[in-house]
Amino acid sequence: MRTPFIAGNWKMHKTPEESLELAKEIDTFLKENEDIEVDVLICPPYTSLYLLNKELKNRKFYLGAQNMSFEDEGAFTGEISPLMLKEMDIEYVVLGHSERRQYFNENDEEINKKVKKALEHNLKPIICVGETLEERESGKEKTKVRNQITSDLFEIDKNNADSITIAYEPIWAIGTGKTASSDDANDMIKFIRSIIKELYDEDTAEVIRIQYGGSVKPHNIKELMNKSDIDGALVGGASLKSEDFVKIIDF
Ligand code: PEP
Repeated sequence: MRTPFIAGNWKMHKTPEESLELAKEIDTFLKENEDIEVDVLICPPYTSLYLLNKELKNRKFYLGAQNMSFEDEGAFTGEISPLMLKEMDIEYVVLGHSERRQYFNENDEEINKKVKKALEHNLKPIICVGETLEERESGKEKTKVRNQITSDLFEIDKNNADSITIAYEPIWAIGTGKTASSDDANDMIKFIRSIIKELYDEDTAEVIRIQYGGSVKPHNIKELMNKSDIDGALVGGASLKSEDFVKIIDF
């Protein structure tokens, strides 16, 4: 069985001190509710990672980065290396978020290089895929998602595949308050699982966790999580307030 996986992507919000305060609130909730069987991940800005790792050594959540370089080191101003993340005990890294693709022109070739680099350093990638509204309205959503998945996983070995999480995030649902219906989200996630089966095999398709992301809130998480193939959520806005995020964790 796949353990439910709820991740908070804080984007460009929270200073280090604000991050610590929020992370402590979430950690306290998890410690007081140890019976909740959900893997919880927090992805604060880079500038908060060191402090959170240092101050919350016995944390009950995983710590992740929102992006990383596909190089180990060098003259790449402004970039963050996987080696830097490893030294801060980072376990996960979000790759190919639609905001990276849209505003920073990241393409699937680069994302594939990042996925390979993350795996080389035992960082677990969360690969984000999803279609625009235009693509959905013209019936091209599955073609788009298939192309993204096959390119992002190009030459990724089967032995590494179970370290990967995929987040299906329709771009039109991110930060807009519009959620894909739970049926549409489940349908796409089933489709993604079928692509994983084609690329690898049935066992791999059964273990890979696939999250839904796009305006997940306390009021819609239960319906999404009740669907057969949705294994969790990548949460933006609602992960910035502990009272909302813990309700999502405790769906
Ligand atoms: C996201 O940041 O990946 C996201 C889905 O954001 P939101 O929950 O705010 O739509």
